[in-house]
Amino acid sequence: MNLRSFFYVLVFSFIWLGCKSQSNTSDSAVDNSVSSIGFSKDSLLHHIEVLSSDAYEGRKTGSEGSLKARNYITSKFKQLGVLPLSKTYNQSFSFMGRRDSIRNNGVNVLGLIKGVKNPDKYIVISAHYDHLGIRDGVVFNGADDDASGTSALFSFAECFKKNPPNHSIILAAFDAEEMGLQGSKYYVDHPIIGKENILVNLNMDMISRSTKNELYVVGTRFYENLKPAITEAQLPEGFKLLIGHDGSDTAQNWTNSSDHGSFHKKEIPFLYFGVEDHKDYHKETDEFVNIHPEFYSKAVQVIISVFEDLDERLE
Ligand SMILES: [Zn+2]
Repeated sequence: MNLRSFFYVLVFSFIWLGCKSQSNTSDSAVDNSVSSIGFSKDSLLHHIEVLSSDAYEGRKTGSEGSLKARNYITSKFKQLGVLPLSKTYNQSFSFMGRRDSIRNNGVNVLGLIKGVKNPDKYIVISAHYDHLGIRDGVVFNGADDDASGTSALFSFAECFKKNPPNHSIILAAFDAEEMGLQGSKYYVDHPIIGKENILVNLNMDMISRSTKNELYVVGTRFYENLKPAITEAQLPEGFKLLIGHDGSDTAQNWTNSSDHGSFHKKEIPFLYFGVEDHKDYHKETDEFVNIHPEFYSKAVQVIISVFEDLDERLE
């Protein structure tokens, strides 16, 4: 048994995590519940392991690995009952490279889940599926950045299958984030759904590891009505959901650090979820074996519960 399969046995117990966070439910009950409404931690970890494996070649925009990732996302969307946002799931675009002034082609993958109470208002849940590709023969797998957010899109879809949302949901796997938020820029500049009908963007980028059990959230400084969903969130034991990195403190400012920045520029409210940079950030060691499975599944659970609160609260 090699190290990786040992790790696999260790963490891949079959656990469903609840989507609907009940008030007064103890943290351990939420963590271990076998619920008919929920997402599978098992699947979450499987998806991130697949997307960050060498077969996906680091998912660089325009590469074979990127196409493979796109096909994976599309097939999971289909399996989970996620509809294409327009005629197909794909939104193709092109852009000039920042350094080499070469025209690049990217493809966003956009899914739709129709809301049951307020189907004409939308919440965009996003993550970028591209990463850095292969450099000098070394694959940059980008497990945390951002196979973690991409895989969480499937957890949302699992929840929605059992428990349809009030508002319509766009599940957006953006391309070319690493090349300057290109996919999300194109998306907001070429809206399929008008911005007046988008209530909020929840963006996930790097959510799978933290030695301090800290997940940061950015956005409440600019959109104060979103704050109660954060400050009143029910958190698992020892898990910290911190407001910061938004320019109001001395820490790195993440206001425009990922795809939420494209929404913010169009004055569409956003919440960004992510961890602080770690030693493997943008290195070939950002791999599946280095994520923190317990933290990751808790982070996804917390983000889903924040979503559920907003889905109830926002009109
Ligand atoms: Zn990223």
